[in-house]
Amino acid sequence: MLPEEQVHLACWLCARPLGSAVQWHHTVPKAKGGRDTVPVHPICHRAIHANFTNAQLRRMGSDRAALLANAEVAKFVAWVAAKPPDFYAPTRKSR
Ligand SMILES: [Zn+2]
Ligand SMILES: [Zn+2]
Repeated sequence: MLPEEQVHLACWLCARPLGSAVQWHHTVPKAKGGRDTVPVHPICHRAIHANFTNAQLRRMGSDRAALLANAEVAKFVAWVAAKPPDFYAPTRKSR
């Protein structure tokens, strides 16, 4: 499928509609020989790689339920659910 045809798809991780910024996540890391990609929000993409190593991602592959079984990821998805599609948490500044 061409990327253009997937513009209106929902995010693979959080299932919200995608915003203007779409990133393509390799369900099996490219470094591990994976070729399949899924569209995700930049913030969701960051959450995936913040919580899993490439070795873990390779084991789970496209098994989204396995990712959501991680408590941190489940918490993130619940938290991001109410945010607008283009929401991206800025780096926290202490003032
Ligand atoms: Zn998302
Ligand atoms: Zn990725």
